[in-house]
Amino acid sequence: MANTAQAPTTRNESCQAEIGVIGGSGFYSFLQDVTEVEVDTPYGRPSDSLFLGEIAGRKVAFLPRHGRGHHLPPHRINYRANLWALRSVGARQVLGPCAVGGLRAEYGPGTLLVPDQLVDRTKARAQTYYDGESAVDGKLPEVVHMSFADPYCPVGRTAALASARGRDWEPVDGGTLVVVEGPRFSTRAESVWHASMGWSVVGMTGHPEAVLARELGLCYTSMALVTDLDAGAETGEGVSHEEVLKVFGANVDRLRGVLFDAVAGLPSNASRDCLCAHALDGIETGIALP
Ligand SMILES: [Zn+2]
Repeated sequence: MANTAQAPTTRNESCQAEIGVIGGSGFYSFLQDVTEVEVDTPYGRPSDSLFLGEIAGRKVAFLPRHGRGHHLPPHRINYRANLWALRSVGARQVLGPCAVGGLRAEYGPGTLLVPDQLVDRTKARAQTYYDGESAVDGKLPEVVHMSFADPYCPVGRTAALASARGRDWEPVDGGTLVVVEGPRFSTRAESVWHASMGWSVVGMTGHPEAVLARELGLCYTSMALVTDLDAGAETGEGVSHEEVLKVFGANVDRLRGVLFDAVAGLPSNASRDCLCAHALDGIETGIALP
């Protein structure tokens, strides 16, 4: 994609991107010909501009989840605006790499887990578009109860797993991501409880990202990089932010490679036939989706 003075970018113009990636700037900053696009939404501004680029011939919109400079803590991210913005530029499949804590000793730092289940332990986040009161273009949404039994796209998961294996990084296939409100890390008691429930990893951003994607009929795939053992699974001082950043930094190149291969491995938007693609079939939302 050219980064030159072509037609000014119009919002809501479809097909500027096929695939959305919500992650840090480490995932796109080195790409050539990245176009920065500011998007506004009925829910306010997303975390940052969208950065449009191309990987393996696929148009991708990158969105820094925490904003440039990482100024947004997980509980202050405007998740509704983020997913809406990605859909508004044409993205129908979303990859959401994130940093997590391992809840089992065998899921040490550097483990890549592609979860197939989610537990929401957040407390104060807007987590639906269909609340009957947030107007879009003057119209009120209906109250909709979306099926969310299987929160992740099976096709996206398969692509992510295959990409990791293709780069000799044996991923953990499946597991439960429990999402906490943050920004603090868990106490030992919380961590022991999470592990005792059989959950695999703990993070702060996977919810409501996944459910909002589903509400917009988007495919969503989480790729969870373990940066530390959570408080109940290790014996030291507990998790520190420095520790998380260090492990993430050491693995970001690897994760980027997997992410890019996964982008290349996703189906075309037109050929999607997964449960996410049909999530809105027969549902009256009351509002026009972008
Ligand atoms: Zn899907």
